[in-house]
Amino acid sequence: MINFKLDIDADGIALITWDMPDRSMNVITMAVISELGALVDQIAADEAIKGAVITSGKDSFCGGADLTMLEGMSAVYADKIKAAGEEAAAAYVFEESRKLSQLYRRIEKGGSDRSAKEREAKPGKPFVCALNGTAMGGGLELALACHHRIAADNPKTRLGLPEIKIGLFPGAGGTQRIARMMQPADALQFLLKGEQLKVDRAKAMKLVDNVVPQADLVQAAKDWIKAGGKPFAPWDVKGFKYPGGLVYSKAGMMTFPAANAIYRRETYDNYPAARAIMQVVYEGLQLNIDTALRVESRWFARILRSPQAAAMIRTLFVSKQDLEKGARRPAAVPPSHLKKVGIVGAGFMGAGIAQVTAAAGIDVVLIDRDQEAADKGKAGLHKSLSDRVMKGRMKGAERDALLDKITPTADYGALRDCGLIVEAVFEDRKVKSDVIAKIQAVISDTAIFASNTSTLPITSLAAEFKEPERFIGIHFFSPVAIMMLTEVILGKETGDKALAVALDYIRAIRKTPIVVNDSRGFYANRCVLNYIREGHLMLQEGIPAAMIENTARMAGMPVGPLSLNDETALDLGLKIVRATEADVGPEAVDPGMKKLLEEMVEKLGRFGRKNGKGFYDYLPGQPKKLWPGLADLLPKKLTRHEIEALDVEELKQRFLVTQSVEAARTFEEHVVTDIREADVGSILGFGFAPFTGGTLSYIDMMGTKAFVALCQKLAAKYGERFAPPKLLIEMARTDDSFYARFAPAKKAA
Ligand code: NAD
Repeated sequence: MINFKLDIDADGIALITWDMPDRSMNVITMAVISELGALVDQIAADEAIKGAVITSGKDSFCGGADLTMLEGMSAVYADKIKAAGEEAAAAYVFEESRKLSQLYRRIEKGGSDRSAKEREAKPGKPFVCALNGTAMGGGLELALACHHRIAADNPKTRLGLPEIKIGLFPGAGGTQRIARMMQPADALQFLLKGEQLKVDRAKAMKLVDNVVPQADLVQAAKDWIKAGGKPFAPWDVKGFKYPGGLVYSKAGMMTFPAANAIYRRETYDNYPAARAIMQVVYEGLQLNIDTALRVESRWFARILRSPQAAAMIRTLFVSKQDLEKGARRPAAVPPSHLKKVGIVGAGFMGAGIAQVTAAAGIDVVLIDRDQEAADKGKAGLHKSLSDRVMKGRMKGAERDALLDKITPTADYGALRDCGLIVEAVFEDRKVKSDVIAKIQAVISDTAIFASNTSTLPITSLAAEFKEPERFIGIHFFSPVAIMMLTEVILGKETGDKALAVALDYIRAIRKTPIVVNDSRGFYANRCVLNYIREGHLMLQEGIPAAMIENTARMAGMPVGPLSLNDETALDLGLKIVRATEADVGPEAVDPGMKKLLEEMVEKLGRFGRKNGKGFYDYLPGQPKKLWPGLADLLPKKLTRHEIEALDVEELKQRFLVTQSVEAARTFEEHVVTDIREADVGSILGFGFAPFTGGTLSYIDMMGTKAFVALCQKLAAKYGERFAPPKLLIEMARTDDSFYARFAPAKKAA
């Protein structure tokens, strides 16, 4: 046995300790399934064993299924389709993927497959799960299959079924057990949101039966068995009543139609896994548990074969993890451990960067023009963190410890011993030049200089620094504390050490990096500006704002383009339009868009969300509302008849294609050099429809031939901005895909 240890104590209670060698966290693999199965058989067969406790030998309990195992299953499936046909391949996935569900059901039946009748005489052994730490996905499903769950009082523990976030759903009994443990509306919410609960919340929701101090955990679990704990799940006991009543009851009728409406509003039916959750809960609650589990397995196998699940697992798990573990880090540079980071500019971004840096345990020197401005940056943080404390999301002591790490000052001398200095001052070349000169005078000989500029070329800023090889771009997204992506920008002369330190820093602050070459707008902004522009162009065509916003969300974007423009500020939008016009030429900007922004910003003072007036009106305490005056500023208004004749599918495509085609251009131009970064960056950086797996996966999912044909159709109808780049045309000719042609070689982390 490699992954588990079995100890049997003098009372005849077995303790199964799960502790996988060479892994920081336990995960479910085929080997784990077979070893745990063998242990369950052994315990069931041994008359001397009274019951079993399952716990983990690590800090956490289990991180869930090893997704590379699922990826492997998909690969075999693809091969089997070719060899034996679709039906045989589907049967393979069904049989393989239900093994875990069957094992868990065996545990729930006391260790054997006996029928309910047989269990009256021979009930089997009770199993208790002793949750010493975090349990996710299949790990939590194991706990749910045990007869009793005790959690250690560990503030770091999170319990959840987050499969939905990678296009799957809990397929090892999770949907059926959860739906039998709580009201269906709560169950659906828990499953569809993939929430991660702290121990006390999990206890309140009855997902764990008891919470005890860590030191007492295993003993408390054993005591439950000794006290006569029975090996029956509530739903295996005669007379079991569903917490929410039957599906075809008054209560059921109140729940399911409403839940269906909420599901549609939240997902626009883009996520097959979310639809499957609705379906299996609805169907499963009308069946006995064994049949319900079989139905769940059928749906799970079907979802596992969906292109959406494959794309989401690849981007949001495999590639994301590769990037976080340093896929792009120059291996020859020894690891750096930053103790102190300097941040110059204590404004909106600088304060956010200070917060995430201090949260990683790194000391921060926060500099602004004068002491007052620097103090203001820290005071703003104090206020926002105190709000979190008030809401119970953070402890007062945690806030104080974090703020203690930040020293606000106007003295550049304090930067001398910083290993990394990040500048986040105004987006103004002159201001940046002054600041670079001041930092240059004090920076240590080995420290790295990073700029958080969003538009100025890194190479040109680096030229002002004495050693451009130590200069790099680290582009954060706002709000810094929430957005997971950071875009690292290499100037022409940026050296390996600068890149390595930047990536070590990003790893320390627990964000996901992508590394791109210097170019106007880098990667993320190039794509996202196209998205915003498409919304503007639709306005110019006379399409109602509400329809633009809704179709964008139907396409899978988290917010509409006009809403996004409000968030990022309309005056900034106008600045970018003017800068583009000056740098690239008048043909690069749409005159209608420029005129509209000029009127809104300069005549009407509508700056966006920040002053409560943009495409929407933001009134305190009320949901935002589209600004009724907008239509009067537009050149054209479609008639009702014309609106009804609009092709909604095409509007949706325009939003995604304009971003994907730009992503393909950035790849052709070697701005992005690794396809994983284009995909991960698009979902984490600007919320590109996650079910597609990202900008380039969207092209692959459609097929390059079909994508190029669509681009050409849109280009003929709406303009050259949709014209496919040469690379795509060539790929379409040979029916090539990004992941077949450019998949990066795996590198050990
Ligand atoms: P901001 O106006 O909120 O903050 C800028 C700060 O720099 C202010 O506190 C200001 O007092 C300070 N400052 C100005 N001149 C200075 C000087 N000479 N010495 C020291 N401090 C000085 O702006 P922001 O939104 O935080 O943007 C900062 C940088 O981050 C810009 O380069 C911007 O392009 C970039 N950025 C912004 C966003 C965003 O969404 N706001 C996103 C990514 C990157």
